[in-house]
Amino acid sequence: MKTIGLIGGMSWESTIPYYQIINETVKKELGGLHSAVCLLYSVDFAEIEKCQRDGAWEKSAEILGKAAQALEKAGADFIVICTNTMHKVVPLIQQKIRIPILHIAEVTVRELNKDGIRSVGLLGTKYTMEQDFYKAMIAQHGIEVLIPDEKDRETINEVIFNELCSGIFRPASREAFLRIINDLWKRGAQGIILGCTEIGLLIKQEDTEIPLYDTTVIHARRAALLSLT
Ligand code: GLU
Repeated sequence: MKTIGLIGGMSWESTIPYYQIINETVKKELGGLHSAVCLLYSVDFAEIEKCQRDGAWEKSAEILGKAAQALEKAGADFIVICTNTMHKVVPLIQQKIRIPILHIAEVTVRELNKDGIRSVGLLGTKYTMEQDFYKAMIAQHGIEVLIPDEKDRETINEVIFNELCSGIFRPASREAFLRIINDLWKRGAQGIILGCTEIGLLIKQEDTEIPLYDTTVIHARRAALLSLT
């Protein structure tokens, strides 16, 4: 089995499902008492979030780069960064290590392609929805990416940082997300990427008939399967 190197804590609320899904997947594949071989480097999210707010992306890449180097040294065969937003600095982190990074947008595109999705709605932090590092990776596969309007992007971003990252799950926020998902569907989205690793803690597939692509689940499962190859 390969050793998975997880960089988590962004937020820690969403790192918990990663650990659970990875182990459940390995157990499902191998049976018995099998579980995943993995290492977790959990960072202080306050530091990372401040870098995001300040636009200090290189500084955040330094912090995550050190984490990646520590995981490589400890024996990780590949790296899983447990947040969509910080994939913005994947190229900078990759320069610091020899082992590969399992990219969250790439594994998500694979699922979209499998289901024949040609137009998708994207929910995430304002960085993920507004900047190009994430959307471009999807668009380069010929998939149209739709994002909510400015006011709704603000709502989503506030709920992520003020509620979900602190383990607060309000029914009113769930309703707001479902309304925004519905609006994207009306605009032509055939499915919705939950492009922030906390959103799946608030919204579940059973809450809507519109197909949801939960990046936490997709990324964690793919990591577990990769560890078995
Ligand atoms: N976990 C979130 C994501 O997937 C947001 C936290 C962060 O800004 O890293 O983007």
